[in-house]
Amino acid sequence: MSQSVHQQAAMQRVTVLGSTGSIGTSTLDVIGRHPNRYSVHALTAHTSKEALLAQCLTHRPAVAVLDDEADAAWLRQELKRVGQQTEVNAGPEALCEVSRDASVDCVMAAIVGAAGLLPTLAAAEAGKRVLLANKEALVMSGALFMDAVSRAGATLLPIDSEHNAIYQCLPAEHRGGLARHGISQLMLTASGGPFRTWSQADIDKVTPEQACAHPNWSMGRKISVDSATLMNKGLELIEACWLFDAKPEQIQVVVHPQSVIHSMAAYHDGSVIAQLGNPDMRTPIAYGLAWPERIDAGVETLDLFQVARLDFEAPDEDRFPCLRLARQAMQQGGMAPVVLNAANEVAVEAFLQRQLGFTAIGQLVADILSRPYEGQVDNLASVLATDRWARHQALELVTRWSA
Ligand code: NAD
Ligand code: MG
Repeated sequence: MSQSVHQQAAMQRVTVLGSTGSIGTSTLDVIGRHPNRYSVHALTAHTSKEALLAQCLTHRPAVAVLDDEADAAWLRQELKRVGQQTEVNAGPEALCEVSRDASVDCVMAAIVGAAGLLPTLAAAEAGKRVLLANKEALVMSGALFMDAVSRAGATLLPIDSEHNAIYQCLPAEHRGGLARHGISQLMLTASGGPFRTWSQADIDKVTPEQACAHPNWSMGRKISVDSATLMNKGLELIEACWLFDAKPEQIQVVVHPQSVIHSMAAYHDGSVIAQLGNPDMRTPIAYGLAWPERIDAGVETLDLFQVARLDFEAPDEDRFPCLRLARQAMQQGGMAPVVLNAANEVAVEAFLQRQLGFTAIGQLVADILSRPYEGQVDNLASVLATDRWARHQALELVTRWSA
């Protein structure tokens, strides 16, 4: 065994943005297994104040953040009652503060959607170790985010299982384009979602309950719907372009229903390197927390005899047009990914509220993307303005289509 294994690893202070969600809960599970390695600086939630209270009692963070001041007052009171010292704050600026706090080493960015952009960017600008689950933040801010990471010397580790897999399959230094490192292609695997084998007629009738029941992964509602439309794979394609300096044409999406191979990198010499494991987000989370070391994640070793077979097929972009829309948005560049993401967030929420049908999600995104908009992703203000514009247009369309 190398000497470093015996040495006590330095204690890391962690902020978990979106701690009450699926990724947040798994992160705290891993952290709880290693009390000598990690302490929690801050936990944050949108409205789940009871869940946040329970997490505060277990993990004793210095700070807790909720969206609304009334919820924060409730949590403050509850913590005071049991004599706990946690400071409780409210609102978006408080999220940025717990990301950039000088005592913080590592920020888990696990808020869902565009709401995570500013605190995730704040962590990058403060030079933290950023564990990126919140793919929408990178889809929206692309070059701006990657520039902030390199300017501040932040360490960006992908938590999305596919990107974490690719990261593990690439050489340690992989910036500057794939070809420079002898890589011909990235292979992004996709489960295909719950409707992979369904006919278009059946897909048209999908309900929110059906869309949120993913065959292999247990996830938040928004990403579950994205997985069902394959928009998740589209957002991941864009995410991979930014993380690995790849072009959309260098990324092949491979439907692999067992979700055992989490993604692959193909090299010029014919080698294809894959990362495999049980579909459990604690593996990429533990990888990000401990990198470059490895720690126990509470995940069982893969049993290949039980898996028995691995299947692969091409995605069907006719039944699942969101994947094509996302690829086209990335190829178009500029604000197109911002518009794609905003329109999709509005459409998914409307679907979950039963205002839109499942098939209308892709139709709405296509409609908004086809409208004229302009601007370059070189400053945050114009990204946020385009995001607002696209949401407004999308909401109007929801009203019109659901009337
Ligand atoms: P989730 O819905 O389970 O949890 C979201 C968390 O963000 C919650 O803590 C919620 O309180 C908080 N939040 C929601 N809206 C907010 C707002 N407006 N302001 C502040 N906080 C807010 O979602 P999840 O499944 O954990 O996914 C989180 C992110 O990780 C998403 O971007 C998703 O795409 C990504 N991701 C998730 C998985 C997974 O397995 N769940 C895998 C890969 C990537
Ligand atoms: Mg993923």
